[in-house]
Amino acid sequence: MRSPSDPRNIPPKTTQVVVVGAGLVGSLIAMFLKRKGYEVSVFERRSDMRKINKQGGRSINLIATRRGFHALGLLGLGDEVEALSVPVWGRMMHDREGRQVYQPYGKDKSERNYSVSRGALNTHLVNLAESRGIKFYFDHTLTSMDFENRQLVFDAHGEVISIHAERVFGADGSGSACRDSLMNALGETAKVDYLSHGYKEMIIPASEGGGYRLDEKALHIWPRGNHMLMALPNNDGSFTATLYLAREGSLSFAAMSSSETIEQYFETFYPDALSLLPNRRQEMQDHPVGSLATVSCPKWHFKDWLLLLGDASHGIVPFFGQGMNSGFEDCSVFESLFTGDWGRDFAEFERQRQPDAKAIAEMALENFVEMRDLVGDPHFRFCKAVEHELELRFPKRFRSRYANVVYSLMPYHVAQEAGRIQWKIIQEMAEGRTSLTQIPWDRAEAIIDQRLTPYFESKNVRLGE
Ligand code: FAD
Repeated sequence: MRSPSDPRNIPPKTTQVVVVGAGLVGSLIAMFLKRKGYEVSVFERRSDMRKINKQGGRSINLIATRRGFHALGLLGLGDEVEALSVPVWGRMMHDREGRQVYQPYGKDKSERNYSVSRGALNTHLVNLAESRGIKFYFDHTLTSMDFENRQLVFDAHGEVISIHAERVFGADGSGSACRDSLMNALGETAKVDYLSHGYKEMIIPASEGGGYRLDEKALHIWPRGNHMLMALPNNDGSFTATLYLAREGSLSFAAMSSSETIEQYFETFYPDALSLLPNRRQEMQDHPVGSLATVSCPKWHFKDWLLLLGDASHGIVPFFGQGMNSGFEDCSVFESLFTGDWGRDFAEFERQRQPDAKAIAEMALENFVEMRDLVGDPHFRFCKAVEHELELRFPKRFRSRYANVVYSLMPYHVAQEAGRIQWKIIQEMAEGRTSLTQIPWDRAEAIIDQRLTPYFESKNVRLGE
């Protein structure tokens, strides 16, 4: 409990820049703004995460990829975040018979992702931001905004606190109060589309010797049609496993209310994971079902006063591992277009970023089907092999959509459209064939030059950048 005299309990009545939300994106944008010379204060609903005992049973870990690292790198934070993370080089697919098939993510070892604990990363960013002179006010919940008088109203332990701000950055996540206030002020409506699937987390503990029980260089997936289990390594020898399953129905979280039904489910679908998940019954009963949603918001800014960022304006489902990465990219894009003419900068940010947010939201939903279902389909796997071979044969002209999203900085909407062109080429090549030796590679090259290269040229995008 903080003492009443703690200066963080007494926010100034006026502050230059207010960031609402001390999550991943809020902490990062605060550092970008601070280094431009602004006084920045961050207001957060939760208590200070650094003082809370972390035995809550939930420990999401995230995949950090190139776009996220690019933004971190601009602040000189890339190496520190890499040190908190475990590198992963590919996906390990587990079938129902316990067979494992490995698929590398990228063209070589330089292309890898990093698994990092969301809590550890968040704490680290808050510490860094504080050390750079940013003030944090925890236990402050934004309750309303007065757009005319440029005031924000917070509830701090039942006390109502009103603050005047020159600029506001709304980074308060997918349930954003800033977004609700903005929509009210503009007479617009945002959409939050919930998936019928939810998720629960479980822990695969380290072995008795402290080592990993699965290959820690991979993200592990147990695709089972309409549901799946996934596991990502932590840096203490454990893995965080996430079960994605329908909330309701015959095969659902709701249908697993007893130890017997839980046990039956795991024995049927994940026999090779039984020894890895010793606490599954308890965890399935105790842990809440998390929600997964796509947020689409027609307007992201108000004049030169408010800008929404991250999940607040474009929350997405986690199946491309791009929610945080796209939120971090928001920060680097804002930095790149910043002129100090705030009204113009906010409008320009919205204009540039909305098509990209829409594209990654759609691709993340498509990837859900791919991960849980299509990876088990032989024709789909053959198409993926054709795609991989095209990348190897024509590396300067053809990269998979996955690589364009995860290992490049090309705008998401370009990666999406290129992906559509590429998938048609792959399907034409794979049609009626079952082996790579049957593919007419000369013809594939000619089609790439005819259809794909001109598209990239029209967008001024060069592969490999
Ligand atoms: P948040 O992290 O939600 O932070 C918002 C902050 O605002 C919170 O601290 C909240 O307490 C605070 N807040 C909310 N309301 C108020 C209020 N009224 N007043 C004051 N403060 C408030 N992304 C990836 O890039 N890679 C992955 O592999 C990945 N995996 C994921 C797996 C799962 C299961 C889930 C659920 C998400 C995953 N994500 C992943 C997405 C990622 O977690 C989010 O995109 C990211 O956390 C968004 O950051 P944010 O700062 O915008 O929002």
